[in-house]
Amino acid sequence: MTTASVDRTIRLISTGESAGSTCTPDLAVDPWYFDAKDPGYGPGSSMGDVIPTGSPRQGELPARYRTASNGELGDWIRAAKATLGDRVVVLGHFYQREEVLQHADFIGDSFQLAVATQSRPDAEAIVFCGVHFMAETADLLSRPEQAVILPNLAAGCSMADMADIDSVTECWEQLEELYGTGPDADGRVPVIPVTYMNSSAALKGFCGEHGGIVCTSSNAETVLEWAFERGQRVLFFPDQHLGRNTAKAMGVPLEQMPMWNPRKALGGNTETELEDSRVILWHGFCSVHRRFTVDQIETARVDHPGVRVIVHPECPMAVVDAADEYGSTDYIAKAIAAAPAASTFAIGTEINLVQRLAAQYPQHTIFCLDPVVCPCSTMYRIHSGYLAWVLEALVGGDGVPAEVLNRITVADDVAGHARVALERMLAAKPPAAGSVVPVVTGA
Ligand code: SF4
Repeated sequence: MTTASVDRTIRLISTGESAGSTCTPDLAVDPWYFDAKDPGYGPGSSMGDVIPTGSPRQGELPARYRTASNGELGDWIRAAKATLGDRVVVLGHFYQREEVLQHADFIGDSFQLAVATQSRPDAEAIVFCGVHFMAETADLLSRPEQAVILPNLAAGCSMADMADIDSVTECWEQLEELYGTGPDADGRVPVIPVTYMNSSAALKGFCGEHGGIVCTSSNAETVLEWAFERGQRVLFFPDQHLGRNTAKAMGVPLEQMPMWNPRKALGGNTETELEDSRVILWHGFCSVHRRFTVDQIETARVDHPGVRVIVHPECPMAVVDAADEYGSTDYIAKAIAAAPAASTFAIGTEINLVQRLAAQYPQHTIFCLDPVVCPCSTMYRIHSGYLAWVLEALVGGDGVPAEVLNRITVADDVAGHARVALERMLAAKPPAAGSVVPVVTGA
């Protein structure tokens, strides 16, 4: 398989050696430059989003790693992994840059990777090449003795940050005041909180504590069914699009899905709108998936007659409606793997995954719906320099003390409730056999 490097594509575009465009020239700048600047999501799809105050900051990466070539970093990573052996497991998310992902022991979506941690209970360290909420989930599902390490603390998630525990608690108090807390004649409580996996551990804990549940993009419908059996309505956060697309497919009318804007009283709704609601959607979104448009789909259909358009359910409703299919990253990968030879796909999800699938299946024509190269800003903060740094620190070779190893831990009082919400999800829809770890690489 040809290595599919979005990083290299960006550099070729930035130097004029390749046609095409990127959303910002800053993508060609090394990520440690942004660690030293004001807090921000950095270049890429989330750069216009507002990062919350108090978000973790990454300290300065030692010069050895900032000045090394990609080839040197790859050699150091392989050597450190060989020394560490089974003491370490490296997990890589589908949206991660190729230069990092080639060293992953497991590749998958956030939930698949969290579950993958359980397949290596003897590993002392889990190096999570993804974003902050994923590392938190891995900490929740791994053994207490295992250290989950995020190579760059600035790798957050702008969508997850759009719902914080204080705003959700305030919303919940307003809803309790409006609806009361008692069940109806069928024993259903007024509201069930449902959080997308892409949320902080604090929100997963909130759901566990208040009779709610977690969902992923592949089990959202099953989870909403679970919630409707127990509640008259659902409060869904943080992604409005996943909530709307899923509930609409289940037959919930749009007028029964008001949006909750945390900056407004009653979320910007009237009491009547909230009384009539079935799903209250938090005002959150993913800036990667918000880039996809109906115009892009129409262009793809004109340029590639017979094209199969598959988009992620984090895309806006109009885009999902205009596509041929929608589904999680795992769904997209499996649809391509099962397609007849010489199929053409236009894909609406993050560019690193699309470019990798295109390299993996050269018999097909696979392209990203968005012609502008614009990766997930926060995934992009993890560079092989950071991976080499944490692995060599684990070996003990460069003297970096253990306390700066970016360990991600969830406080005990939150973790207990968060595990309850995750266990409810697993009971509602256990992961299909063989689907928890779709790709195993020998790095
Ligand atoms: S792709 Fe969107 S939801 Fe996923 S980590 Fe990036 S910003 Fe967050």
